Amino acid sequence: MKVYLLVFSTFLLACTAEPTLSNSEIEITNCSTTVDLDEPQCPKGHTDEIIPIAWGKPSKEGMAKADSGLIWLGGCIMTENSPSFHCKIHDIEF
Ligand SMILES: [Zn+2]
Repeated sequence: MKVYLLVFSTFLLACTAEPTLSNSEIEITNCSTTVDLDEPQCPKGHTDEIIPIAWGKPSKEGMAKADSGLIWLGGCIMTENSPSFHCKIHDIEF
């Protein structure tokens, strides 16, 4: 659920920053109906090359996945504000 909220707020930020629309309330409503919650989006606006971040001590399988670039190892301690995804293109977490 936290992941979805993060993705959703990213969309809201992107949409409210859209300069061609003057009514932000309408824009937010439009966004909430078109967001695909299953597909994380980079803050830079693309959905490819994004991998989930695995928190905690990785298993052997987790290490193998990280080596293959399928997941990103976030570290041992996950906090309230820990990011959920890693963009391989921009090398950022969100
Ligand atoms: Zn990116």
